[in-house]
Amino acid sequence: MPKASVRMAYAYDRLRAYPPEVAGRIATAIGNALGVRGEEAVLLELGVGTGRIALPLIARGYRYLALDKDPGMLEVFRQKAAGVMRKVRLIEADARAIPLPDESVHGVIVVHLWHLLPDWPKALAEALRVLKPGGVLLEGWDEMEAEEERLIQERWRFLVEAEGVGVVRGLHRRRLGEVEEALKRLGLRPKTKQVVQWREERTLRQALEALEERLYSFTQLVPEEVHERIMPGLWTWAQGEFGDLDRFFTLERSFTLRATRMA
Ligand code: SAM
Repeated sequence: MPKASVRMAYAYDRLRAYPPEVAGRIATAIGNALGVRGEEAVLLELGVGTGRIALPLIARGYRYLALDKDPGMLEVFRQKAAGVMRKVRLIEADARAIPLPDESVHGVIVVHLWHLLPDWPKALAEALRVLKPGGVLLEGWDEMEAEEERLIQERWRFLVEAEGVGVVRGLHRRRLGEVEEALKRLGLRPKTKQVVQWREERTLRQALEALEERLYSFTQLVPEEVHERIMPGLWTWAQGEFGDLDRFFTLERSFTLRATRMA
């Protein structure tokens, strides 16, 4: 297991973690949307990452198939889930070729994955294939807003573009729209609901470190040499703009769930 990939997975985990009460609200919303009665529900999560959605569900007793193609993410997931692993199976695989039989799970959970897959229709077809009749596709996503974060990311983008490299933003939201259209074309009826809103504190340094560590997908297509050239300039700019980088700012966050039941 490459140490760098586990280190990245822990950094991702720290950046995206939910406060316990938020994680609980998300698990409750998923459980309610699933609505399975009388038999033991089996959940499959595609791109499970380090398990921030999975772990509260596992703790509530769901049988969980945790699929990811990145062994570093699965390793951190495995360490975090130690002690509650009884009903969990880790699957190192590609979401576009799920190694499970047709109609074998009650719920497929997908959070922040579609935008990473240019050929997402393959993964969507696979998700629908493995769902039982009456099963539910559960797509979730976070939104976050803070003026400080926006200013830092704008400056980052300016510096990258000054190096002649284009930056694609807004892909995540666009992709959610494309998936919704695809589901409707199949005659399905996705239902979207904001589950929870909360506030968090983060330091300016943490916001810069997230860019430095390339934890956001929009940073990952920038060539390494460009990334290394621009980052010192970003830190210097931030120091001049904000002064104390250990100052906290408030981040408005929310989680939305879209549930689509199979016929
Ligand atoms: N769902 C988790 C969450 O919300 O915290 C993780 C989201 S993270 C942005 C995307 C995850 O999808 C990563 O763990 C990555 O390794 C995984 N992933 C990316 N492409 C994948 C693929 N083709 N098949 C399976 N997993 C994939």
